[in-house]
Amino acid sequence: MRVLVLSDIHGNLEALTAVLDAAGQWDALWNLGDLVGYGASPNQVVDLIRPLAALTVRGNHDRICCGLTPTRNFNPLARASAKWTMQELSTENLEWLRALPQGPLAPEPHSADEARVTLAHGSPLHEDHYIHNMRDAWAPLQQMATAITFVGHTHIQCGFAQKEHDWHDLRPRYPSRVGSQIWRLPIAAGVRYLINPGSVGQPRDADWRAAFAIYDSVACEVVFHRVPYDIATAQERVQRARLPKRLAVRLREGR
Ligand code: ZN
Repeated sequence: MRVLVLSDIHGNLEALTAVLDAAGQWDALWNLGDLVGYGASPNQVVDLIRPLAALTVRGNHDRICCGLTPTRNFNPLARASAKWTMQELSTENLEWLRALPQGPLAPEPHSADEARVTLAHGSPLHEDHYIHNMRDAWAPLQQMATAITFVGHTHIQCGFAQKEHDWHDLRPRYPSRVGSQIWRLPIAAGVRYLINPGSVGQPRDADWRAAFAIYDSVACEVVFHRVPYDIATAQERVQRARLPKRLAVRLREGR
């Protein structure tokens, strides 16, 4: 089975459409949350993802933008965009976001011999915790029932692998930041993985291109992708919506 794994779209319609165009054929789409917040197209993003995603885990921005959690713990930039998003979202999309399940989720395998995986927005042990480094990754790597867990939340495309006393970080390496590029990660038997596909709509690893991953359970690999998108239009929309200017600028910086 070929699965398109997306996270942290953040209301960026231009990035999402570029990703869907670049992804080719897939059998299922798993969405790791934060569809909205920051970007200027929350309704368009939710409308596009709803019929496509087999599973969506809620993210912290999804929760806050639909009123499930107060905005007080957000920084001023995130708070301003959450308030704007809440007013912008249609009633139907607000209700859909409110009903999103909390992670971790376990999608049903397509066949009996297919490995089970776990999906979460933040850490599978706590939905709001970030997994930035091996220290953060260690406990979930030990405790998850499945060998592979997909997570988002940090907006940084990466992974962590562990087999007994052997452990390492996985950082996709691309020859440049121009055009579309991929980086293949073979999934080895007996190794446990935490894998972050990166952020579609607001990458923070100094690479502005939209990030996503394809998990191929038959070929036993995860292919990380970076694709350019129409960033000028996404920035223009942020400015036309009168969202803070920084939200447009940071897209180009990849921060
Ligand atoms: Zn996010």
